[in-house]
Amino acid sequence: MKIVVLDGYTENPGDLSWGPLEALGELKVYDRTPESEIIRRIGDAELVITNKTPVSAATMEACPNIRYIGVLATGYNVIDTEEAKRRGIPVTNIPTYGTDAVGQFAMALLLEICHHIGYHSEAVHKGRWENNQDWCFWDYPLIELAGKTMGIIGFGRIGQKTGCIAQAFGMKVLAYDAYKNPALEGENCRYAELDELLANSDVIALHCPLFPSTEGIINKDTIAKMKDGVIILNNSRGPLIVEQDLADALVRRKVYAAGLDVVSTEPIRGDNPLLKAPNCFITPHISWAPRESRQRLMDIAVENVRAFLRGEPVNVVNP
Ligand code: NAD
Repeated sequence: MKIVVLDGYTENPGDLSWGPLEALGELKVYDRTPESEIIRRIGDAELVITNKTPVSAATMEACPNIRYIGVLATGYNVIDTEEAKRRGIPVTNIPTYGTDAVGQFAMALLLEICHHIGYHSEAVHKGRWENNQDWCFWDYPLIELAGKTMGIIGFGRIGQKTGCIAQAFGMKVLAYDAYKNPALEGENCRYAELDELLANSDVIALHCPLFPSTEGIINKDTIAKMKDGVIILNNSRGPLIVEQDLADALVRRKVYAAGLDVVSTEPIRGDNPLLKAPNCFITPHISWAPRESRQRLMDIAVENVRAFLRGEPVNVVNP
């Protein structure tokens, strides 16, 4: 049984083991695969594992041995799942593996905005403290979170995790979701309509998926409804934000700061307006990537293959 991993590097840059997958067949792992090489590298392999490398209808046509496609991520839009279904090829994904890490990262973005720890540490290492007149200094307003309100757009697994951590910091949570679960409400956490959330939140965190209904949900009109000096966090999907509108709002100081782990085009383009916007913290889509999360992802990916080989596939997205 030939198994090919088309783009294994981001999942396993060297700190995890492909061993358990290797035990299931003749494994070939590529760090990354350019579009022009996809068909040649799949060749006569039966099991194809991919993260962001597309497997199109044309690829399935050119590689008729494919029996299974395993995606090393939750989102599987890189696969033509309908065509796979037509050909009887199950496509599997990893439904959840990083809830804790992604919730934690949303708070890390927020804490960086509140304290600028990286900036102040660098200033100390450059000698600023040694030569300071006073016994302490800070260059940005320092922000206490207790008593402030976090509005969470998309109150699913990650939104709830972020909400829990925010409440542990003494924040109140307003949640906006397409589906409401009253059991999640409590003294410091309740559902709100979007406009109420926008008008009353000191921090707005995006945790909804990217759907046509959520694309551009943060734009000049919704920003206009927010409190002056609001903080915006996005470690869900870049296109949830109209980036030029956010950049303009940061320049006008309508939005005090933004913490973003995702942008509209990844890797980020040099002309992304957010790169020049003030108080805009951008990380390269790393919320999901602590070793613990990637190990969980690897374990589930291997279990998906085992289940397929047993004839009882799980996590199939095109049943
Ligand atoms: P989830 O399915 O558990 O939660 C999503 C929630 O959004 C659901 O409660 C759903 O009802 C709600 N929702 C759907 N449409 C909505 C709408 N129009 N308005 C408001 N709410 C809506 O998913 P999750 O595991 O919490 O993941 C959330 C998102 O996080 C994913 O879709 C993904 O985009 C992102 N993510 C990012 C990273 C990263 O590394 N940055 C990693 C994993 C996930």
